[in-house]
Amino acid sequence: MNVDLSHLRKDFPIFERRIGDHPNHFLDSAASSQKPIQVLEAMDRFARTNYANVHRGAYRLSVEATEAYEAARRRAASFIDASSPDEVVLCRGATTALNMVAHGWGGEHLRPGDRILLTLMEHHANVVPWQMVARRTGARLDHVPLTDEYHLDLEALERMLDDDVKVVAVTGMSNVLGTIPPIDRVVEAAHSVGAVTVVDGAQLVPHLGVNVRTLGADFVAFSAHKMLGPTGIGVLWGKMERLEEMEPFEGGGEMISDVQLHHATWAAIPHRFEAGTPPIIEAVGLTAALDYLDEVGMDNVAAHDRELTAYALSRLAEIPDVTVYGPPTVEGRGGVISFTLGDVHPHDLATILDERGVSVRAGHHCAKPLMRNLGVPATARASFYLYNTLEDVDALVDGLERAAALFGT
Ligand code: PLP
Repeated sequence: MNVDLSHLRKDFPIFERRIGDHPNHFLDSAASSQKPIQVLEAMDRFARTNYANVHRGAYRLSVEATEAYEAARRRAASFIDASSPDEVVLCRGATTALNMVAHGWGGEHLRPGDRILLTLMEHHANVVPWQMVARRTGARLDHVPLTDEYHLDLEALERMLDDDVKVVAVTGMSNVLGTIPPIDRVVEAAHSVGAVTVVDGAQLVPHLGVNVRTLGADFVAFSAHKMLGPTGIGVLWGKMERLEEMEPFEGGGEMISDVQLHHATWAAIPHRFEAGTPPIIEAVGLTAALDYLDEVGMDNVAAHDRELTAYALSRLAEIPDVTVYGPPTVEGRGGVISFTLGDVHPHDLATILDERGVSVRAGHHCAKPLMRNLGVPATARASFYLYNTLEDVDALVDGLERAAALFGT
């Protein structure tokens, strides 16, 4: 299905800006997405007319702010089809959400000899918290490998599962390879040995959406800033029975029921996981972003991604010396394309592309274990979202052809 979303570009003020003499070919949405005017205006309006701290005041502004904050929780719950808004913990972003699960669930339940299964393509946000918890608890980390075509090796996963595996934490979409593992099969296999499943949805949720009820996982984490919303807010969704098993990762105001001199008791879920003043204006931005995405339709977002990815893969294949690190076709992959051009350093590539208004990221993309496995220190990475066009891909390819000529690859 081809969908035309080009009319949406006018909603994004950043595209009025030129980069030097060139249109703004922004191809770095996997790092952070641009924001539509609807999100910017909703936050601005709220800050000007309704702002106060939440959950504290009996006065009107605070009541309104609390209602707006709790409306964001309900909105996030409906976006992912959660059974209840109480299963939605609002937090700083995917990194905080994954730390909450690793420390708050893993730290409580893991014992020496238990195993935590990750995959070789995890972002550091789904690696380092588990390393910290493994060190604390004596649990062991193992990593599911990839196939030659950069898909998750499901047979290896099944072989690695045994009764000692207590956690399987996997990305919903790799921020380097674009690989989308079949999460339903991962969850089914993990649950067959009684393991808790954690999905890093930082890339998955913005691009394909997620229905947490049909997905079946125990926890899903994602960030608003990668899905048209502001920085500083994200979601940890957990099944209620798992959240009940989790200890708060942070203590402070708002998360307590009572505090004595030597001990405290916790507020109800989800508030016990939201210590301190939460991101209030950002919550309003999250609501507006989810409204915008639902208005466009996540099926359309996914179809548009697929079209751009197929086109980019075929155009990149025309350039000799381009190596793409990721599944070769759109099957089982999303709109994140990592590549190298001969032995040109990815930072040099990014600089040359920038001179033509094309913004791509270069580096290890916070996935150093994966980069080592790929045998490269860095790649360049182009990533798409609903405001990108075929012309953006053409500008990328033109820039790469120019770099190839310059460096004589
Ligand atoms: N997981 C993946 C796959 C990501 O791509 C990212 C960010 O790039 C994160 C986790 C961390 O997200 P955040 O920096 O918003 O916490």
